[in-house]
Amino acid sequence: MPSLNDFASTKLENLTARGQRRELTDTARKAAGTAVRGNRDVISFCCNDYLNLSQHPAVKRAAQAAVEEFGVGSGASRLVTGNHPLFAQLETRLARLKGTDAALVFGAGYLANTGIIPSLVGAGDVVFADELSHACLMSGARMSDAQVHVFRHNDMAHLEELLTAHRGSARNALMVTDGVFSMDGDLAPLPQMVTLANDHETWLMTDDAHGLGVIGGGHGSTRAFGDVPLDIPLQMGTLSKAVGGFGGYVCASQPVIDLLKSRARTFVYSTGLPPANAAAAIAALEIIESDTDLIEKPASNAAQFCREAGLPAPQSPIVPVIIGDEREALAASQMLLDEGYLVTAIRPPTVPAGTARLRLTFMAEHDPEDISRLAEIIRERIIRRSAA
Ligand SMILES: *Cc1c(COP(=O)(O)O)cnc(C)c1O
Repeated sequence: MPSLNDFASTKLENLTARGQRRELTDTARKAAGTAVRGNRDVISFCCNDYLNLSQHPAVKRAAQAAVEEFGVGSGASRLVTGNHPLFAQLETRLARLKGTDAALVFGAGYLANTGIIPSLVGAGDVVFADELSHACLMSGARMSDAQVHVFRHNDMAHLEELLTAHRGSARNALMVTDGVFSMDGDLAPLPQMVTLANDHETWLMTDDAHGLGVIGGGHGSTRAFGDVPLDIPLQMGTLSKAVGGFGGYVCASQPVIDLLKSRARTFVYSTGLPPANAAAAIAALEIIESDTDLIEKPASNAAQFCREAGLPAPQSPIVPVIIGDEREALAASQMLLDEGYLVTAIRPPTVPAGTARLRLTFMAEHDPEDISRLAEIIRERIIRRSAA
């Protein structure tokens, strides 16, 4: 057995050789999509703070007031003494926005997914998951001891094939997918998935981390296919993207929420979010529910970029520019940084092998001129070059 340090060093050398080593870079985010990295000012096109609500005066004031009044932490699990009354207010708002009876707030989106799935399925059950589902949906599925079947991305024929082959023998079945895919920006074909779920007696769960506040009139992917919300019994999401703060949630029926309060280990055994996070999220949701112009902006900025860069029209504020090789993606990201744009390279295993990419996210406050200049640089120096 190698020493622990030798083990870590060898692993790191392998990651470096494959262009997959990850390192932290100090970055101070500021208002309106700007940031300071090293000692230079850059414009960030890789934050999920789509509506700039992390910097919104009303949201900051709500958090500050809660810190002054209640302190910085919640002291215990919500089941012990950590259930501040602000959580009930927040959950009522989330349920209303998503059109469900009830909601439950978790410490983070990651904790929500890894808590929810093992509470609902286990040995003898099956999970059907889109291959590009977020890592924490996959973790939740694997932790559940259910048999996991992965279908090709958005391939409904493949999903149906797997349902036909594997649903029958199992006790309970769950289908999971991102509503908006986090690294590709496309939507899951939810109307078809609702039909397949009903036809094959399977519960459907969506992870709408990138839907809330930016598509479907702010309601997220269940309203992206028409004004009548789709009947999706488990709608999970996060407070850390368009909502601008931190925390995770799930919207569902009252019995499901009540079961999760007793059984989701990441809820039961983890400290409640600080009350200030709940206060900030309430203030942010208030804006999402009332400012219809604001919530359209990230998607329209993404659309402007795609038009000018010569890319297909986007379905959300997330736009991937696929490069392929890890090192080339890193070099493209560095080139953009030299031009004053912060666009992180996303590499395997976050995305499939051979699909390293730049992942751009558009925010409400991006300036149309900055978007145009970025589109031109990417069109001329990245897309054209890789096409040549
Ligand atoms: C960010 C993200 C999560 C995790 O949410 P956190 O609150 O950051 O833990 C889950 N699913 C998707 C699709 C995400 O993009």
